[in-house]
Amino acid sequence: MADLHRNYVAGEWLAGSDLSKNINPSDLGDVIGEYARADRAQADNAIGAARAAFPAWSTSGIQDRANMLDAVGNAILARKDELGRLLSREEGKTLPEGIGEVARAGQIFKFFGGEALRLAGEKIPSVRLGVEVEVTREPVGVIGIITPWNFPIAIPAWKIAPALCYGNCVVFKPAELVPGSAWALADVIVKAGFPPGVFNLVMGRGSVVGEAMTADKRVDAISFTGSVATGRALATKAIARMAKLQLEMGGKNPMVVLDDADLAIAVSCAVNGAYFSTGQRCTASSRLIVTAGIHDRFVAALTERLGKLKVDDALAPGTDIGPVVDESQLKQDLDYIGIGKGEGATLAYGGEVLERPKRGHYLAPTLLTGATNAMRSSREEIFGPVASVIRVKDYEEAVAVANDTDFGLSAGIVTTSLKHASHFKRASQAGMVMVNLPTAGVDYHVPFGGRKGSSYGPREQGRYAQEFFTVVKTAYTLP
Ligand code: ADP
Repeated sequence: MADLHRNYVAGEWLAGSDLSKNINPSDLGDVIGEYARADRAQADNAIGAARAAFPAWSTSGIQDRANMLDAVGNAILARKDELGRLLSREEGKTLPEGIGEVARAGQIFKFFGGEALRLAGEKIPSVRLGVEVEVTREPVGVIGIITPWNFPIAIPAWKIAPALCYGNCVVFKPAELVPGSAWALADVIVKAGFPPGVFNLVMGRGSVVGEAMTADKRVDAISFTGSVATGRALATKAIARMAKLQLEMGGKNPMVVLDDADLAIAVSCAVNGAYFSTGQRCTASSRLIVTAGIHDRFVAALTERLGKLKVDDALAPGTDIGPVVDESQLKQDLDYIGIGKGEGATLAYGGEVLERPKRGHYLAPTLLTGATNAMRSSREEIFGPVASVIRVKDYEEAVAVANDTDFGLSAGIVTTSLKHASHFKRASQAGMVMVNLPTAGVDYHVPFGGRKGSSYGPREQGRYAQEFFTVVKTAYTLP
């Protein structure tokens, strides 16, 4: 029997106004559980509880915060196999990917446990003799955290951990498709003993709970990861009331392959970057920009590799690519494959829905060749296991095409030329640049984020997270 999972508001587990069913995309007959869905009133109560908890929590001792965050990290790591299995079951990434993501979430909490002890200020000489100037960082207040389905535990972790670390209170609204990992994370956080109201879980609809958080003046800041359309709409409303904002949205990430590339590295970066996690990563390599001298060899080798990838149940041993997350995402992927073909690209591999013993949203890894950078399939985020090869004549054209996009999250180059690698690191208009590495897959202790339409506001993760999760104060003293 499916378990009922409640919301956590003001230190209590509460039923919502209705329930959602969490369905396994690898096996549509498998209902993972039933999860509370909050109404507007419950969202309001959570915001009120966070507000009420803020004065005490924002002035609480850093050793306690450090201990609690570290305990959350340890508890997650101790349960990584179990939670990774749940994650793979509800989101559809493979079991090793699911366990890896859970481990990352654990490490993030432990990292911010340490950061709680390291928040430093500055003492700066004043231009006025005898006056002292101090620059310090303080908590922001109540943070609304709105997350997507594609990293159901790591993204919540990299927002919640720094929020709590620096003395903020949290109202957390996970994506509707993945309440399981969010609930499990909340359960671990609650057991670490944060005072009531400091952390609140409000599962529910974006149009209800997300809207309530966006509109409410008691929410000082919103950290959002999701689609461009939702992010833009949310930003307009949040900025109208001067909320502090951090948005992580889409990508249309280029991976450049130069003539002098090691072919094996190029193929493995493309397979990993474009197809692992079913291509459902904002850092996925969806544009493979390949110079003429290696183009045909690269396409042949990549196509051969795609033919060997096993697409199946995310939990089955040996699966390389799990299912697409749901029916509407599958439709979007197929629509874009059709758009690409309609615009003149060639379907070099895949493109079809796959039947498996269990009914799920299985899509073959898909490669379009002969694409141009002007095609919609090269300009708009697809968010599936679909990549386009764009042939260019040389490095200069490759860089120009790589940067010719509305997005700027991640960019990669595969080359043995130090000159080109060094130049690309400077010339790329992306927030993150990878040399001989996949565009997706980043460390947990360094800044994450992009430029242009991909991101808005300060970087996430690592020490740089303090930019968003604290506010600066400048104090002058004449002793
Ligand atoms: P994705 O499909 O990648 O998860 P979305 O942008 O649809 O991207 O969703 C990201 C998050 O934003 C989810 O938690 C979703 O519930 C939430 N959301 C959706 N609509 C709104 C809205 N109008 N206001 C605030 N949050 C929203």
